Amino acid sequence: MKRIRPQEIQDILGRVRARYPKTSTAAPGAQPSAAASASAAAAVNSAAVNSAAAGHAVHDGIFPTIDASVNAAWDAFQSYRSMGLDDRRRIVESIRRGMSERVEELSRRAHQETGLGRFEDKVLKNRLVIEKTPGPEDLEPKVITGDQGMMMLEWAPFGVVAAITPTTNPTATIINNTIAVLSAGNAIVFNVHPNAKGVSVDNIRWLNQAIRAAGGPENLVTGIPEPTLESARQLMEHPKARILLVTGGPGVVKAALATPKRAITAGPGNPPVVVDDSADLELAAREIVRGASFDNNVICTDEKEVFVLSSVADELLGYLAQSGAYVVNDEQLRQLEKIIFKSMGEPNKPGKINPEWIGKNAGKILAQIGVQAGDDLRLVVAEVASHHSLVWTEQMMPVIPVVRVANIDLAIDLAVRAEHGFGHTAAIYSKNVDHITRMARAMNVSIFTANGPTLSGLGAGGEGYTSFSIASPTGEGLTRPRSFSRERRLTIAGGLRIV
Ligand code: NAD
Repeated sequence: MKRIRPQEIQDILGRVRARYPKTSTAAPGAQPSAAASASAAAAVNSAAVNSAAAGHAVHDGIFPTIDASVNAAWDAFQSYRSMGLDDRRRIVESIRRGMSERVEELSRRAHQETGLGRFEDKVLKNRLVIEKTPGPEDLEPKVITGDQGMMMLEWAPFGVVAAITPTTNPTATIINNTIAVLSAGNAIVFNVHPNAKGVSVDNIRWLNQAIRAAGGPENLVTGIPEPTLESARQLMEHPKARILLVTGGPGVVKAALATPKRAITAGPGNPPVVVDDSADLELAAREIVRGASFDNNVICTDEKEVFVLSSVADELLGYLAQSGAYVVNDEQLRQLEKIIFKSMGEPNKPGKINPEWIGKNAGKILAQIGVQAGDDLRLVVAEVASHHSLVWTEQMMPVIPVVRVANIDLAIDLAVRAEHGFGHTAAIYSKNVDHITRMARAMNVSIFTANGPTLSGLGAGGEGYTSFSIASPTGEGLTRPRSFSRERRLTIAGGLRIV
């Protein structure tokens, strides 16, 4: 098949734009009007028709092999790097707009295809990444002037970023990674999770359509229709893939770190929550239910276990029940263990979760032990001893263990150990500044929240930008355009200090 050169793509787009004056006469950096967007959308379709008529296939980023995907992204990068920052801003805005229009479709399809989570929570997740993933404004240059002259730092792209995405947040990760990576001036190639390939492939197509609608190059975001572990390996090893962005469990993180490339790895978590005796217990219960049940607990940052001081444990459990959780008794817990675990771990060790129940509604899980609670039930709570497997396992289902502890020292110590040193996420409910500070220091995590769900640490109901690739093992934290940029310095020795 004949490959289209970037210049040919630009020529086609130029011809199409010339026929749609509203998009071609916009001032650089101006936000396109609704009419201009509609006309740009028409231009995309028209460009596709023209290209097809001229014998150029429009791939919308989807190619049969990893090699073809990377080569197409590489060509797109050559074109993209010659474009200005205003073009980049316009492209990112077009992505936000295009994905907003599809947010329900993306969420419904992700929910149906993976069978994980809740549709309405996926809508929130997708909206969050569309609106709060930082854009090119993140690349603010830095200037230092002094007696020796001037030094300026700017953020440059790497080229092609190779990304691997999870089944738990398929579209939210693709959209978040695309906005961050493209804002930094790179192209991106995805090897998506095989269990979410249908919606992920369409997501890549729609991203390309939004990019073209803003005059961007074709195939800036690419992927393959049949991803496998082997294709993930090929992508990570491809010579034109400059850096790796891997989001998933321990296996893929290990595989990425074993390559000789720079890898940005967003790995597993097991976020603990401590509730002390100074906490607003009603608030703590309400927010634990909201956070731990969000998308049925499949998000890596969702609360996974609670340590509560004994003096307030009964009160907290009461408020948890009032906040819409179902608190199981000992006998129900024994039955539940047989359902949700394939095998329980040794004391203080993770068990093997039964994948059938990952991301399922709390009501469906309870129905397995004969409790009819319905699909509106958000969370199951089980009081357990600290050595119980549920405490040490990343369960990714809306069943959360609560452990009574004698004092704050023990609570923090257990929280640190249950988190397994992932350095990912942790939370506390407390009005005691000393307790908040001590736990934040001891946890040494990328995201620490106090008096709010861990979701607030993702910028949902909390300050700050969002990311769905929280790179704890490699230290980038909530990834952003700077994470995918090279720092470049210009020094003018003895000059350009103007005061
Ligand atoms: P997973 O590890 O099964 O799959 C993730 C991706 O990696 C998939 O595309 C999969 O095909 C690929 N993969 C898996 N093993 C591989 C290997 N050995 N070589 C190459 N590719 C491989 O994870 P999942 O079930 O899709 O997602 C859930 C996990 O991801 C949880 O552990 C969760 O905590 C973690 N996660 C972390 C973040 C974060 O930001 N830190 C975000 C989302 C999910």
